[in-house]
Amino acid sequence: MQENEGISEMTTTRTPLIAGNWKMNGTVAESVALTRAVDDGAPGGCELLICPPAVLIPPVAAALKGGNVAVGGQDCHFAGSGAHTGDIAAVMLAEAGCGYVILGHSERRADHGETDELVRSKTEAAHAAGLIAIVCVGETLAERDGGETLARIGSQLEGSLPAAITAANTVIAYEPVWAIGTGRTASAADVAEVHTHIRGDIERRFGADLAGGIRILYGGSMKPSNAAELLAIDGVDGGLIGGASLKAEDFLAIAASCP
Ligand code: PEP
Repeated sequence: MQENEGISEMTTTRTPLIAGNWKMNGTVAESVALTRAVDDGAPGGCELLICPPAVLIPPVAAALKGGNVAVGGQDCHFAGSGAHTGDIAAVMLAEAGCGYVILGHSERRADHGETDELVRSKTEAAHAAGLIAIVCVGETLAERDGGETLARIGSQLEGSLPAAITAANTVIAYEPVWAIGTGRTASAADVAEVHTHIRGDIERRFGADLAGGIRILYGGSMKPSNAAELLAIDGVDGGLIGGASLKAEDFLAIAASCP
């Protein structure tokens, strides 16, 4: 139970979400072993999510016993079907057993030129397929050094979130680009400032109820040694974890750090 003092004095319950982004890693055998270890060790008190590469979704989904661990994709196309070589439709992810999809990750924004507008249309497609969209935002080091962090996050939210989101179908992940895979994490004060800003932005656009209910994750070099501090920050509702999600022991230790 977390209180959001800034959100119209309302008290809400947001179940923490610990999401693992495996990126482009894993064989079938490794993925099944990792999934089983996570499933067997999943602590209560938070929701766990595994986002494997697309071709590994079916074996990962099949390896789960149907408990507290969900499966998600790492991207989807905005169209439901058609001539889009190499892409995957949201409805295909749903059919393969996914409940979530990560959208607008900074690696996709950088490697594939994804714009806020594209992320918004993918988010709409995810919702239409019944998936929960994890929409990623975050500033570069140059933007942080230039004092542009909050403005950058604000414009990404404005452009990437459709008008019809709900607290149930959308999760926001704040991931400073300079902290992803670098071993550097944002300070607790910086994370708190950005999370408060994000929730305030959401309240202005979507209202206090939605702002009080939506989960906002932190991502960027979260590991067992810093998870407790990051997850205890007011307004942080879990983590999006890259490197440390590839080791069951580390991922479960992070999950066990949820307050
Ligand atoms: C990520 O890719 O979303 C991420 C947070 O990666 P890492 O934990 O490795 O920094």
